[in-house]
Amino acid sequence: MPRKNVLSVSKFPRPRCLELFCGGGGSGHGLRLGGFKSIIGVDREDHRKSYEHLPGMLFWQANVLDLSPNFIKQFDFVWASPPCQAFSSMVFKSQKEQHLEKWQSQGRHINYIPAVRKMLEDSGVPFVIENVQGAKPHLQGDLLKLCGTMFGLQVFRHRFFEFGNGAVAPSNVPPCKHRNCSVGIMSKGVRPPQIEKYENRGLSKFKSGEAPPGFRAIEKRFESHGDRVDYIYEGVTDDIRQKIKAAYDRPYVRSIKEALRVLHELTPMTEEEKKAEQDRYRKEMEKGLPKPGTKQMFPIYGRQMTRGRTEDWRDAMGMTHWDPTRDEIREAVPPAYGRFIASHVISTTLKPRPRRTSAQKHTEDPGDDKKHGDALAGAELLGEEEMRCESCEDAADAGPSGIGDAERDSL
Ligand SMILES: [Zn+2]
Repeated sequence: MPRKNVLSVSKFPRPRCLELFCGGGGSGHGLRLGGFKSIIGVDREDHRKSYEHLPGMLFWQANVLDLSPNFIKQFDFVWASPPCQAFSSMVFKSQKEQHLEKWQSQGRHINYIPAVRKMLEDSGVPFVIENVQGAKPHLQGDLLKLCGTMFGLQVFRHRFFEFGNGAVAPSNVPPCKHRNCSVGIMSKGVRPPQIEKYENRGLSKFKSGEAPPGFRAIEKRFESHGDRVDYIYEGVTDDIRQKIKAAYDRPYVRSIKEALRVLHELTPMTEEEKKAEQDRYRKEMEKGLPKPGTKQMFPIYGRQMTRGRTEDWRDAMGMTHWDPTRDEIREAVPPAYGRFIASHVISTTLKPRPRRTSAQKHTEDPGDDKKHGDALAGAELLGEEEMRCESCEDAADAGPSGIGDAERDSL
């Protein structure tokens, strides 16, 4: 039996947005700033702590596919981010082939897009379905592509958006600005250069193609290398052949260095040689660094702390106004995308609602805007007072929606 949708949203101020598979509130934050006064985020996992970081954002833990059309109809717009593991390029194909059946039995790596689309189309509410590049074949119609470089973020995070039920993709979207973006210095900070232990004595005695005593050079050419000639080296005596086999478990060595190692003729560098080699290495590194003032992109995503600090990643995504977890950041859509789409949808798709008269607006103190202005970078945060006002007639119509604990507990 389908679960009953007991969350009553009829009193929440409009425009109302329903956010499916909402995670830790990346896109939700943007939808709120972009003009939706109430955002209800639904997810199977508990993200309440991160999600409810702005007034007007409510988290509801539920299974998205159990939502009824009547529940969805109470919203002006729906944003859906079906889980993208099924399409993500961050999962190796070989792994996917090996484990897909097991994952799907655990509810992971399932393509939810068709079921979600059917559900949203049935509701009649304008919607957008967001997903990663790998899901493009499963999305329909004119897709919108957004990239972090369009919004000055330090992530690329390409995302694709399908619009439906009257919502349409914006036409004036800036192109990606990848030029002058670099991951150089961030990578350097993330993974310090490894100073190898160099051994080189004896190496300089041989030119390419010349073989150390006991070895014979054999020319190798590879189509992919053009005119370049490479060499491998075979033993000419049984003794050498046995030594090669013992050291490398193959009948040849791939370099003079390997040959000398077999002969025990390689010795470690002196401290002086090592230092010169390290200096050379460092200079090479620095040559590869971007020019000052170049935008640094956050290089890699992942759970491991070796892949960059959580704070850096959060800054790069523009998720600085609250404290999402690393996993939430990993799966988040940058707020800038939500904001961009919210303001587009509100100005083009949603029916304009009659403006309130000045008498009805007595709870909307313009000063409130200023109060939050700094913290939220000019975000429009009207409605906080309005939502809490129980005496105002108009608000009673729209409803008190401080979304307090008492109300939540009654859900
Ligand atoms: Zn891009």
